[in-house]
Amino acid sequence: MRSDPACVFCKIVKGDIPSHRVHEDAGAFAFLDIQPLAVGHALVVPRAHAARVADLTEEEAAALGRAVRAVVRKVEAGTGAAGATVAVNDGAAAGQEVPHVHVHVVPRRAGDGIGPIHALFKGHAPGPQSKDALAALAERMRSA
Ligand code: AMP
Repeated sequence: MRSDPACVFCKIVKGDIPSHRVHEDAGAFAFLDIQPLAVGHALVVPRAHAARVADLTEEEAAALGRAVRAVVRKVEAGTGAAGATVAVNDGAAAGQEVPHVHVHVVPRRAGDGIGPIHALFKGHAPGPQSKDALAALAERMRSA
């Protein structure tokens, strides 16, 4: 199992740094965020160290997805929330501070005033794209 001795989340997975565990299985571990965005905010991490989503093996990514599914249920049941924002800051450019993949599961309530993830991009979104531009972009991505 890959581990980085300098990584704070690897230390949490190993139990070398204490955490408030919410879920664990063979591939993933979940614990409460120390500076929650809402009460019950949890982080789901792969046991194996990987800085970015694309650094995970297919098996690790699948295990992480399964754990996220379980943790969403636990966070909602444990807090009485009606929904959750499930998000990854993937890379420093996207605001990732801890370079070990982690999925934020933030409990949400109707009328909490926070809005969808789209609210983050308000005033920055490029607006509607032409069909040609979308087709060219999708082709570049397919062949990348
Ligand atoms: P990000 O900005 O996506 O990298 O988020 C990192 C998250 O890790 C933040 O929400 C921090 O509050 C959280 N965090 C950092 N250290 C710890 C820790 N020791 N225990 C629990 N959460 C932590």
